[in-house]
Amino acid sequence: MDPLSFLRKIAGAGVGFCAGDLYGHYMDLTPEDAVALSENPDAFWASKHRLSLETYRQWKAFLETGCACTGTTRVGRPCKQTVSVLPGPPAPHSQFIVGVNDRCEHHQVTKRRQQQ
Ligand SMILES: [Zn+2]
Repeated sequence: MDPLSFLRKIAGAGVGFCAGDLYGHYMDLTPEDAVALSENPDAFWASKHRLSLETYRQWKAFLETGCACTGTTRVGRPCKQTVSVLPGPPAPHSQFIVGVNDRCEHHQVTKRRQQQ
């Protein structure tokens, strides 16, 4: 029996599935979800959060370790100044803005420019 058939069988017997994302938000999974999650966790969570895989991975890296500023200096070199993880509980993806949260204070894109 393949994994999906097995999970469908035990789901039919009343077994439930759930999984927690990066910031501890738990969600119920269908047997199809459980298989997708086990095969490619990053792609699964990116899809569930309606993010591109690249954006999801940037957010995840930021939550886990902080990151190097992705901005560019006036002379065109990568900044790479360390951007620390914010204190407190991990920020949900809705509060992680590429171009702001992954940059030092000198290289953050303004909200006005983000909306264009
Ligand atoms: Zn910078």
